[in-house]
Amino acid sequence: MPTLKPLEPGVMFWAGRDEPSAIAALGVRCGQLGFAGDAVLDRAQAGAWRASLDRHSLEIVTLFAAYDGERYDDIPAVQATVGFVPPATRQARVARTLALSDFAAHLGVPSIACHVGFIPPKPSDPAHQAVLDDVRRVADHCARHNQTFALETGQEPAAELAEFLHRAARPNLGINFDPANMILYGTGVPIPALRLLRPHLLSVHCKDGLWPDPSTPGALGREVPLGSGATSIPAFVATLAELDFTGPLNVERETEDQQARYRDIASALALLRSLVP
Ligand code: MG
Repeated sequence: MPTLKPLEPGVMFWAGRDEPSAIAALGVRCGQLGFAGDAVLDRAQAGAWRASLDRHSLEIVTLFAAYDGERYDDIPAVQATVGFVPPATRQARVARTLALSDFAAHLGVPSIACHVGFIPPKPSDPAHQAVLDDVRRVADHCARHNQTFALETGQEPAAELAEFLHRAARPNLGINFDPANMILYGTGVPIPALRLLRPHLLSVHCKDGLWPDPSTPGALGREVPLGSGATSIPAFVATLAELDFTGPLNVERETEDQQARYRDIASALALLRSLVP
């Protein structure tokens, strides 16, 4: 595997949706790899992925978990369906996350990540305590594989998330900072949030978005191609450099149309390459 440069542009891509050959054809050497809730995570699959990633000289820094039944239509749908928060699916999703950690260990990937959902803000709320217990359990399982566990940002204001991480008190627990999510969920201006959360920063997404329409309660903002939204990407990259973050800049684009998605990822990589000489 090549040694990555600081802030090397990479891509967040998905098993079953994106071929490693197509990702390598974008001219990248690194990224993050997501697995849907129904993806097979056995040793044979890990071996096949290892061979494929090696063949395309792709270094994966994080495996992302998604779960069956999650919906991102609007804020109420996210609250009801995403991550460890919904009680009916909590145990199954925690088990799935532990399985992803084992799978990452077979693949030799040093970190896993997921959206844990909207963490209820009050520590006295039993649902808050339940998520905290689950996050600790996953972090402790990851620690046995020498992995970190990153919470995807966006669903909580930065100060609230920092407080949660402090309370969890696990040295291998941190965040995958997604600047656009702060905008899409309306939880805060990204760069001050990044500064506040820097001590917990494990990895980043490079994604862009527009603020929610205030006249539609519960609406999420709209994700847009990198550089055309409210995230100031040059300032975001400059702040990461100033804060001595050296991990990859993982472009994430979630639009449905695959052709448009690859076109947008290619433009995003061009933008990042212009910002990181
Ligand atoms: Mg993201």
